[in-house]
Amino acid sequence: MPLSANAFGSLELKNVGRSFGGHDALVDLNLTIRAGEFIALLGPSGCGKSTALNCLAGLLPLTHGQILIDDKRVDVLPSEKRDFGMVFQNYALFPHLTVEKNVAFGLQMRNRPRAEISRRVKEAIALVKLEEHAKKLPGQLSGGQQQRVAIARAIVIEPRLVLMDEPLSNLDAKLRLEMRTEIRRLHQSLGLTTIYVTHDQEEALSLADRLVVLREGHVQQVGTPAELHDNPANWHVADFMGYRNLLDLKVVSVSGSSAKVEGNGLLLNATMVQPAAAGDEVRVAIRPHDLVVAREGQPTEGRNTFEATVSVVEYQGREFAVGVNTSTGKNLFVHSEYAPTPGETVRLVLDPARALVYRTSLAAVSAEEQELLQVRG
Ligand code: ATP
Repeated sequence: MPLSANAFGSLELKNVGRSFGGHDALVDLNLTIRAGEFIALLGPSGCGKSTALNCLAGLLPLTHGQILIDDKRVDVLPSEKRDFGMVFQNYALFPHLTVEKNVAFGLQMRNRPRAEISRRVKEAIALVKLEEHAKKLPGQLSGGQQQRVAIARAIVIEPRLVLMDEPLSNLDAKLRLEMRTEIRRLHQSLGLTTIYVTHDQEEALSLADRLVVLREGHVQQVGTPAELHDNPANWHVADFMGYRNLLDLKVVSVSGSSAKVEGNGLLLNATMVQPAAAGDEVRVAIRPHDLVVAREGQPTEGRNTFEATVSVVEYQGREFAVGVNTSTGKNLFVHSEYAPTPGETVRLVLDPARALVYRTSLAAVSAEEQELLQVRG
């Protein structure tokens, strides 16, 4: 399918903001998106994801800022003049039109010649593998198939940008996984610049080239999946990226980017992501996968080790998700390669590099402080 998707160099959001009454739903969103990139907007309910997408789509006017494609303002254009394809959570198909006619709609609105419409509709339907269902009405299709129709309808117009708002959230777990792969396949084969809204971090990590994490309308971090997964910028992002263990501890001493922290009956060697000094109260974030039940004889040199009591064990295929209590009763989420017994005392191992130290406040760290930390590290 010929595509105009790469017909621009970059899409730029400059200080984009939107308020409702006195409430700021989105504040100063700054982002430059390259043609062909897949960007996920990620965050908990109410963080401003849909507001950002609707501002891009032209469904909501901006309160502040500009949206530019190759230095030309697009935020001043009405929605239909932006040449963007949209896919919504609720499919938003015309129930009385067949699959073919739903897909053809955008091209008809653009007054394309009939032969061209017919060819492009056929190509789009083949891309989402719905050839057998072309003559059916949406009500005769499964949720996953309906979402494929919505995707075909968005891409058939050869959009400059595809906007997707939680497109998989109405599907069951198995179908979500299938459609996720399908969306990735389509993106890889068509190279469509895509902005995808989700509250599901796994979905965002598996689909996107870069993620934008939002909280209460403010960008918390922009980065690749690996950057966000391994090095969240603050404890909120860490929490959202699956660092289920958040411990409020006190810094005992600092050396370079390493810190010794204590509290909850623990004394741990950890790594500072945000700078801290001896005596500071900090929040230490640890992924369950990095806090592991040690096996007999396992070498633990250079690692933190401490004992805890098993409270609950969950089977997860090849390994076990285990809940434990520390000596002071603090509940922790850990992993184990074998099934320990509730009540059993286990030994946990934790690499200091994977115990990340953050400030408890979410105030931004200054560039000078960050530089200092890197130099000391
Ligand atoms: P969800 O995942 O629940 O859809 P979201 O991250 O997409 O959440 P938004 O829908 O962008 O969040 O909402 C951001 C904030 O703006 C919320 O506090 C919401 O209540 C508010 N908001 C959104 N739309 C409106 C509106 N039309 N009028 C008033 N407030 C709104």
